[in-house]
Amino acid sequence: MPQLIFVPGPSATYFTLEDHLKSALKEQVMAISHRSPAFKGIYKFTVEQLRQLLDIPQAYEVVFTTSATEVWDRMAENLVDTHSLHHVHGAFSKKCAQAFQRLGKEAQMITAPEGTVALFDPKAVEAQPELIHFTANETATGVKHPMADLREAKKHFPDALIAMDVVSSTPTTPIPFEDLDSVYFSVQKCFGLPAGLGVWIVSPRAIAKAHALTVAGKVYPSYHPLLEMVDKGKGYQTIETPNTLNIYLLGKVAEDFRRKGVDVIRREAIYKNTILIKCFEDHPLLSPLVQEKDWRSDTVAVANVEGGSAPLIAYLKEKGLVVGAGYGKHKAAQIRIANFPTHSKEQIELLVDLIADWRP
Ligand SMILES: *Cc1c(COP(=O)(O)O)cnc(C)c1O
Repeated sequence: MPQLIFVPGPSATYFTLEDHLKSALKEQVMAISHRSPAFKGIYKFTVEQLRQLLDIPQAYEVVFTTSATEVWDRMAENLVDTHSLHHVHGAFSKKCAQAFQRLGKEAQMITAPEGTVALFDPKAVEAQPELIHFTANETATGVKHPMADLREAKKHFPDALIAMDVVSSTPTTPIPFEDLDSVYFSVQKCFGLPAGLGVWIVSPRAIAKAHALTVAGKVYPSYHPLLEMVDKGKGYQTIETPNTLNIYLLGKVAEDFRRKGVDVIRREAIYKNTILIKCFEDHPLLSPLVQEKDWRSDTVAVANVEGGSAPLIAYLKEKGLVVGAGYGKHKAAQIRIANFPTHSKEQIELLVDLIADWRP
């Protein structure tokens, strides 16, 4: 019997994937030229579905990368000359800041203790940042950044670009595009698709900044300069031979999400999250890592397990349910559970019932 996978990425694939893979084979999606009208049609369809699903403003451009990790490098290269500011509350937000540093940027980190949010604090900022980075959902710890902070940051630094990693929260957590210039995600988290595709959404201000840096000769000439990606994207093309299959699948799943209704996805996520957190609170050996209610992720629930998480993980595995261990140095002490659109209410209820019965 296939296992039920609740690891936060890659996670269980979306339940319609099998059908879409079959259609992709039938339509020879993997064999078509990426310069053909058929490819342009796929690209256009996917971007239109994403625009409608996520309410992306028309003036913003959507381009494809290999992953979210790639976007870290591309933002550092195309949107920042010298200074960026990063809110770090776990491994992923930290890796982003480190990517900027590796590329020679002065990337300041504002760091918060694990299980809390690194809030914007104008007093802590050492130098005028060109880009301020936030992580909507820190997958390592299950904290959610309050969106009101984006506007605060913008108020204090109106010239800075505001960037947000929405990798493990989209489409569940709404994205306030009006406060954002650079937004990106990968498809193996909430979209339940195979890994290897990133989506990067940029505002006219971000494009203008990339233009200014390019004219000044300051953009590193990688194979993926933002301006060239945007230019190609306007003709529904990519620079390289892309992951056509995944672009196709993303369009199909975004369409499925729209048919289901993004509001329904959001409501279900809140229900599933509520019963997960309650289960952690009620169990004598478990406790939610994130204490502050408003900071709890909509899509990743993390619990400390007294005495270590390995016995609980093994017990669930025996019953065919796979949950994640803690991230990095917390591997042995915590469990992490994905609450993505593909995880049904019934599946989460089953998981919660099993955890409630567990005693080591
Ligand atoms: C998974 C994840 C990433 C990295 O995604 P890749 O597809 O591996 O590049 C970045 N940020 C967050 C918050 C993530 O959960």
